[in-house]
Amino acid sequence: MSLSLIAKSIKPSPTLALNEKFAILKEKGDPVIHLGGGEPKTRVPMEAIMATVSHVNTGEVRYAPADGIPALKQAVIRYTEEFYDRKVTPQHIIASGGAKQALMVALQAILNPQEEVIFPAPYWVSYPDMARLIGAIPVPALPEDGTFYPRLKDIEDRVGSYTKAVIINSPNNPTGAMYSEEFISDVVQFCEKKDIWLIMDDIYHRLIFDGRKLINPFNYAKKKDENSKMIIINGVSKQYAMTGFRIGWGVGNKKVIEAMSNIQGHQTSGPSVLLQKAAVGALNGIQSSVESLRVTLENNRNVMIDLLHSFEGVKVTKPDGTFYCFADFSVYNKSSNALSSFLIDKVQVLTVPGAEFGLEGYLRLSYCGTIKDIQDGIERMKWALDPNSPNELYIGDRKLVRDWS
Ligand code: PMP
Repeated sequence: MSLSLIAKSIKPSPTLALNEKFAILKEKGDPVIHLGGGEPKTRVPMEAIMATVSHVNTGEVRYAPADGIPALKQAVIRYTEEFYDRKVTPQHIIASGGAKQALMVALQAILNPQEEVIFPAPYWVSYPDMARLIGAIPVPALPEDGTFYPRLKDIEDRVGSYTKAVIINSPNNPTGAMYSEEFISDVVQFCEKKDIWLIMDDIYHRLIFDGRKLINPFNYAKKKDENSKMIIINGVSKQYAMTGFRIGWGVGNKKVIEAMSNIQGHQTSGPSVLLQKAAVGALNGIQSSVESLRVTLENNRNVMIDLLHSFEGVKVTKPDGTFYCFADFSVYNKSSNALSSFLIDKVQVLTVPGAEFGLEGYLRLSYCGTIKDIQDGIERMKWALDPNSPNELYIGDRKLVRDWS
């Protein structure tokens, strides 16, 4: 079949594929545990539900402006003032179908084919394929010192005449690492000096632990007006547990936002008005759900880290935020894909192979589920991997027998 070169270069999203696998196993009645997930399990804020229902009840759900409804833009203006200390206007904002679409249209608005976009590794699975979708070149930057905390040099060394943009995601999916203020300040100033676009993927910025304070990249920017080449990406998916609503946004200079809006207008005509209403409800409503989610995640992280420390040979870096932990399991298997498949087959625990994030030998484990899932999931993994485990493990009334070494 004569598919396009771009289509042939794109892999399916491994995390979405894992969700499908989970749904199929669950449907079959298998006692599967999802430690590969990327969404909080808390309830959607009541204000979001009420706003959606009241709009549905009008019986008129129509097209909306392609770049977002005015009420959502107003909510994002307030958000930007509160968290970035920056006054913006509706023309500086685009609402999209999730942070994912906001990122995609941002890349489409700034990158030509063959131009390069640099991002620290390990990276969110979609960045490389998003770049490939527009014929651009993804350039991952694995920190030279072997940590999850890049230094400016890691980025600097990869900048060349084709470099057009840098993406920074902190705290980071998959590692949970929150980059230092020094690094953020260095990158902001470096990109300004080199006249490179800087995309801040801040989707997890409020989900941080151990008393850490939010970092505002604008504090280090000299270009704060229409010359600014910084684009902030955010959304309601993670902080308000509203993954299924598919609402995110971008904040940038008027020209780039206009370009992004033109692109989005032709792609999807913009996100559904109903779901934008829901996002307005969440953003303008009582904010306690975000803090309660953050506290729950911090506690879950502590439980997961303690359990992982009991694994012989597994190396763990304590996450500073998000709901992911990226642990080095290479002592058990150098191939993260093989290890992840083994864990699904033998003990029905879903994890995401590190190779998908650009680092082999690691597994991404999520702690956004229940404490019970975390405990049972890690216990099953330990049973499967530790050669000194007892021969049998009961999952409910199912008996598993260890027939591998
Ligand atoms: N950026 C990162 C780093 C993410 O982890 C995700 C979701 N997994 C997104 C963006 C996209 O989020 P959304 O649901 O808003 O599209």
